Amino acid sequence: MTVIYLDNQATTPLAPEAFDAMLPWLRDNFGNPHSPHVMGRQAAAAVEVAREQVAALLPPNGRVIFTGSATEAINLAMGTVRNRQDRNEVAIVDTEHAAVRDTALWYGTQGFDVKLLPVDQQGLIVLEELEACLGPQTALVGAMLVNNEIGVVQPVKKITEMAHRAGALMLCDAVQGFGRIEIPQNADLIALSGHKIYGPKGIGALWVRDGIEVPTLIHGGGQEQGIRSGTLSPALCVGLGTAARLCAERRAMDMIHIAILASKARSLFGDWTVNGSIDQRYPGNLNIRREGLDVARLMSDVRGVAFSAGSACASGSGRPSHVLAALGLEPAQIKSSIRLGFGRYNSIDDVEQAARLINQAAGNQLS
Ligand code: PLP
Repeated sequence: MTVIYLDNQATTPLAPEAFDAMLPWLRDNFGNPHSPHVMGRQAAAAVEVAREQVAALLPPNGRVIFTGSATEAINLAMGTVRNRQDRNEVAIVDTEHAAVRDTALWYGTQGFDVKLLPVDQQGLIVLEELEACLGPQTALVGAMLVNNEIGVVQPVKKITEMAHRAGALMLCDAVQGFGRIEIPQNADLIALSGHKIYGPKGIGALWVRDGIEVPTLIHGGGQEQGIRSGTLSPALCVGLGTAARLCAERRAMDMIHIAILASKARSLFGDWTVNGSIDQRYPGNLNIRREGLDVARLMSDVRGVAFSAGSACASGSGRPSHVLAALGLEPAQIKSSIRLGFGRYNSIDDVEQAARLINQAAGNQLS
C-alpha cells in the first residue's frame, strides 16, 4: 500500500543527495575521526566540512557542537543555567516542545524557578507577560522559532532583545525553522536536528555564541570539544552537513514549493478551522479542526495518508496537546484537530489525493 506522507514536522525523508554523501562513510571510509592516522584524518576532515555547512546557516560569531539529537542539544544548552549561580529562574514559552518544556520542568526539581509564559489565542507569546516576568533572577529564556504542532513563528529576535536587557541567556529551539526561515542572529544558543531538514536521524547540533561556556553533558574521552564525549559518526555528520547545504541552496525554491502546496491545501480544507495564527506561520504546517470529528476514527479510516492527530502531543508520548490547550481550545476542539505537514518531496497531487481521502472520511463521519 502506498502512503502519502504528510507528516513532515514529525520527520522528513532523507534527501537522496544526503544519502549518497553518507554512503562512503558507512561502507569504505570507516576510520575513527579521532584517530591520528590518515584514515582518521580523512574522516575528521569530512566532519569539519559538515560543521562548516551547518555553521553557514547560523550566525557567524559562534561554534557548532554536534549532538545525537536536538533534544540532547537542548539539554546541553540548558546546562548553562548551572553557571549562573546568582540567577535561579528559567522562563520558557508554554507551547515549547517537550525537549525544552520537560527539561526546564526538570530544572524546577533542582531548585530553579520555572516560568511558563502564556500565548494568546493565535499561539503567539504575550510580550507584556514576558516583560513582567524578566528580572535580575532570570538565567535563561527559551522560545522556539517555529512551533512543531501549529507552525506558529514566534518573534524570537524581539524575545531575545528583552531577555538580553534582563541579562539572561536566550535559547532558541530552531528545529522546525532551521534551513527554512531566517534564524534570529542575536540568540545565544540555537538547537537543530538532522531529521527535520531531510538529513539523517540520530544527529543534531547546538550552536553556541562565542564566550558562552557550556558545561560538559557526557563525560569520557573528551571528543566534541570536551563537552560531549563519544566517537562522532562521520556518516551522520556528513548527512547533516549535506542536508544543511541543500537547504541553503534550495531555500527560495523550497519555500515557493511549500507555499504552493499550502495554498492548495487551504483551499481544499476550506470547511476546517485553522488552529493558530494564519499570518505568523510557517506554511508547511497546517493544523486544522472540524467540529464533532473523531480524529482517532479518521486516522484509522484514512490509512493511505500519514498525518498526525492534532490532539496528540507531537513528541509521540500520547499525552494530550499542551499547545492547543494553551491556545484556549476546548477539549472537544482539541480532539477534532489534525496536523498536516508538507515538505520538499510532496507534490500537488499528494495534497489533492490526501484532501479527497480525509474530507471524504470526515464527511462520512459527520453526515
Ligand atoms: N524541538 C522541536 C520543535 C521538535 O519538533 C523536535 C522534534 O520533534 C525536537 C525539538 C526534538 O528533536 P530530536 O528528535 O532531534 O530530539
